[in-house]
Amino acid sequence: MKKRSRIAIIGAGIGGLTLALALRQRGIEADVFEQATQLTEIGAAIALSANGTRELERLGCLAALSAVSTEPTELIYRGWKSDARIAAFPVRHDRAYVRQFGAPYFGIHRADLQRILSGAHGGDRLHLGHRVERLVEREDGVHISFGNGEQVVADIVIGADGVRSAVRRHVSATAAMRYSRTSAFRGIVPIEALPSLPDPEAIQFWMGPNAHLLHYAIGGASKAVNYFAVVEGPGVWPNPEGSTAPIDHKTALDAFRGWHPAVIEMIDASRHTIRWGLFTVPPVLNWSRGRVALMGDSVHGMLPHHGQGANTTIEDAVTLAVLLSALPDRSNSRDLQELFSSYQSMRQRRTRTIQRSAWATNRELHLPDGPELKSRDRRVAAFPDRFGWIHAFDAQAVARQHVEDRELVPA
Ligand SMILES: Cc1cc2nc3c(=O)[nH]c(=O)nc-3n(C[C@H](O)[C@H](O)[C@H](O)COP(=O)(O)OP(=O)(O)OC[C@H]3O[C@@H](n4cnc5c(N)ncnc54)[C@H](O)[C@@H]3O)c2cc1C
Repeated sequence: MKKRSRIAIIGAGIGGLTLALALRQRGIEADVFEQATQLTEIGAAIALSANGTRELERLGCLAALSAVSTEPTELIYRGWKSDARIAAFPVRHDRAYVRQFGAPYFGIHRADLQRILSGAHGGDRLHLGHRVERLVEREDGVHISFGNGEQVVADIVIGADGVRSAVRRHVSATAAMRYSRTSAFRGIVPIEALPSLPDPEAIQFWMGPNAHLLHYAIGGASKAVNYFAVVEGPGVWPNPEGSTAPIDHKTALDAFRGWHPAVIEMIDASRHTIRWGLFTVPPVLNWSRGRVALMGDSVHGMLPHHGQGANTTIEDAVTLAVLLSALPDRSNSRDLQELFSSYQSMRQRRTRTIQRSAWATNRELHLPDGPELKSRDRRVAAFPDRFGWIHAFDAQAVARQHVEDRELVPA
């Protein structure tokens, strides 16, 4: 006998867990199916901006996040060889960021974020070791087949299964992820191992020819610096099965030869044995098909240069939770189509704009020395005017307004 579920969320990453929490807050229990047998987030750290933290605060997670996060002192841009400041903006200083955007900016270890989200969720109705292999839509619901042999029939399925999404293959047979021809070296280094680093608690971009390095501090009491060094290439991604590929440490060091000593110290403090390919998901025409919809990286995987992949995924989750909680009890498939179409119209343009902007930022961060640097420096000096709209966004307010405008049951 197949099990039944009203709402099945595929993937217990940042998006899936946030959606489950936001639904529960509204009295709706969803089942979350995750391929991994335990929730151990790999891959360094993450920056959460106000558009994400304001939603996590509404979910009651802010105090726990704050205890293990670092708020950057400033946002600083520098060139690749010199530590002269090209542009700088206060973040923690004078509480400038919170005053402007209404919620904090956090650098946090991914494992801590996942622990806090899964702790808040409690593990109830979280099904680990469930890798989705196939979805088939029938009259009585969506039949989900898992790699472990189990089958579930769900009324509604939300694909939160990341950039290599299996659910996306069901929703849009043609949409596929794309390798950006850029890759990254990542690491976490104790601050005391970085004697040449100026302003170690700032979030900083070091920009140079064909590469950049971004870093910020993470951790509550014992601080470390998380860095993320992006280079152009390789032209063809060598591992079709995954996002990492083996390298030797010298490859990472060679890519930053001649850069400021602080950059070299960071790269050299980690023994690099892998590089991360950066993948994006090109525009997906329809974000849903029948009773199945996509969210997060599965539908708008983006380059990480605005630090917005997870933050926009949190926005998607909250939007979906508000809309689903306004769905009438006896809803029919037309109600669901309307809901998914509203969801897409609220989310598509914003996420596409950020995706595009992240691509343009890649070019800006990797300019060679030369005359173009003057206009680049002017552009980075205008950061708050150019990108404040990303951080100021209030996804929940937008979704609630939508529900009210349509006189649906208030969320
Ligand atoms: C190097 C790097 C740095 C980044 N830095 C930032 C940052 O600073 N700020 C920011 O906002 N974003 C950042 N991002 C982006 C961010 O990590 C993602 O956008 C975010 O994790 C997307 O959340 P998600 O829930 O959609 O997918 P994920 O977090 O990838 O979760 C997907 C989940 O689905 C599971 N899954 C996959 N397939 C299946 C299946 N078939 N069946 C069941 N389960 C499945 C996976 O195991 C995983 O648990 C960064 C990304 C990278 C690569």
